[in-house]
Amino acid sequence: MKIKKLFLLEESPKERKELVDKTLIFGEHFLNNLSHLNAYNDPSKSNLNTDRKFAINEKSSGIDEILSLLEEELLSPGLNTASGANMGYIPGGGIFSSALGDYIAAISNKYAGVFYASPGAVNMENELIRWTADLVGYSKGYGGNLTSGGSIANLIALLTAKKAKNINIRNIERTVIYCSHQSHHSIQRAINIIGLEDCIIRYIDIDSELRMNTEKLEKQIVEDLKIDLNPFLIVANAGSTDAGMIDPLCDIGKIATQYSLWFHIDAAYGGFYLLTKRGQKRLKGISLADSIIMDPHKSLFLPYGSGVVLVKNINNLIKANQYSANYMQDANEDSNSYSPSQLSPELSKHFRGLRMWLPLKLYGHNTFEHYLDEKLNLARYFYSNVKKIGFEVGPKPDLSIVTFRFLPKNGSADDLNRFIIKEIQNNGKVFISSTTINGNFTLRAAIVSFRTHKIEVDSLLNILSEILNKKDITTPLR
Ligand SMILES: *Cc1c(COP(=O)(O)O)cnc(C)c1O
Repeated sequence: MKIKKLFLLEESPKERKELVDKTLIFGEHFLNNLSHLNAYNDPSKSNLNTDRKFAINEKSSGIDEILSLLEEELLSPGLNTASGANMGYIPGGGIFSSALGDYIAAISNKYAGVFYASPGAVNMENELIRWTADLVGYSKGYGGNLTSGGSIANLIALLTAKKAKNINIRNIERTVIYCSHQSHHSIQRAINIIGLEDCIIRYIDIDSELRMNTEKLEKQIVEDLKIDLNPFLIVANAGSTDAGMIDPLCDIGKIATQYSLWFHIDAAYGGFYLLTKRGQKRLKGISLADSIIMDPHKSLFLPYGSGVVLVKNINNLIKANQYSANYMQDANEDSNSYSPSQLSPELSKHFRGLRMWLPLKLYGHNTFEHYLDEKLNLARYFYSNVKKIGFEVGPKPDLSIVTFRFLPKNGSADDLNRFIIKEIQNNGKVFISSTTINGNFTLRAAIVSFRTHKIEVDSLLNILSEILNKKDITTPLR
């Protein structure tokens, strides 16, 4: 009896088949019902683990019991991020074929960090880095790494900048970082983690289109140089999280070159729009960056857990991550000769190349271009139609995020828009989130999921109209 238990972790083919079949049926049921499910179910209605539904003990459970627990306690509460009706924050989606990549990655358990352990996994990662580097227009000598997401990618890029520009205890208090209030908070967090919190951080004003004002940027750098400060780093957005706007990358690139600053572009959300013609036009200048990040789990529709960091000069990336690697400084220029573990703080890591490679290989990158083109069109469509039903809109979208708010004749606009978002979230059929731009409570629709099509966008427009009709918006709110 005891002996038999030891073999449980090595299921027989028959047992495996039962597990696979049941799990697949569960998955199919979820996917086939997705369009009928809410995009949001208020998580406050579920217990915060007080009844410990997921508790582990010595008892074993059957797969049926486990799957029904997941159905009730996991799939339903909170945000349904697999749904096309989710237009909150920055959706991604979770394409099915990525799950197949993850399946093979997990059962083969390939060691993706070190070349000799898995040349296949490392070659695959290098090929994906090459593909993204081609997209941004890096030609030779670059390096990159597949990360768990944009925050860690930003962290690696900023650490690389710090080492490349020799920021240290002797110059840190004179050193200046330039960004805007549209920068993602992971930049602030990276600055703290890598010990740059004593730098001077200049938040450069944004213009009426929410893009960094480059005249003010240059003026500030010149002033800082006059008082003997050390201008070090510019962080620009290529698709801001709030509004999807792209900073003037060419102008910023010129300024960075002229004054010898490190130029970092956060393209976590916007980067893969480079697959489209319109995206290429709007992201012109991206290749001027010294480092770039992008998130395949956003605009490449992968499940969460996928980021990319690219660095123009691989030697800087190596320098930032070296453990005992002075011997590598004159190594081959070809990025193929480096293992991922030499280019990031991670050693053992998820073989996350396969979940990205398999869908790209299966469908070709043109398929992704078509989907992203659809998002650009839908954002334009939503922008003009939400205006028609009476909302004030933010800047014309550079990419696929639209900001909007209702301005009542009387009373507080912030209160009214807060009311609107509450109504949408209580309804749950579609989901959007809000932000604060220039001090104003603002609604936003982020049309990014591969499952968001015209029908979902129309559904959001209908719900917004219904709310406006329900509430007599001419009376002041209490
Ligand atoms: C989402 C996002 C990030 C953070 O990426 P994660 O993958 O969530 O860690 C950073 N910058 C921008 C502009 C983003 O949209």
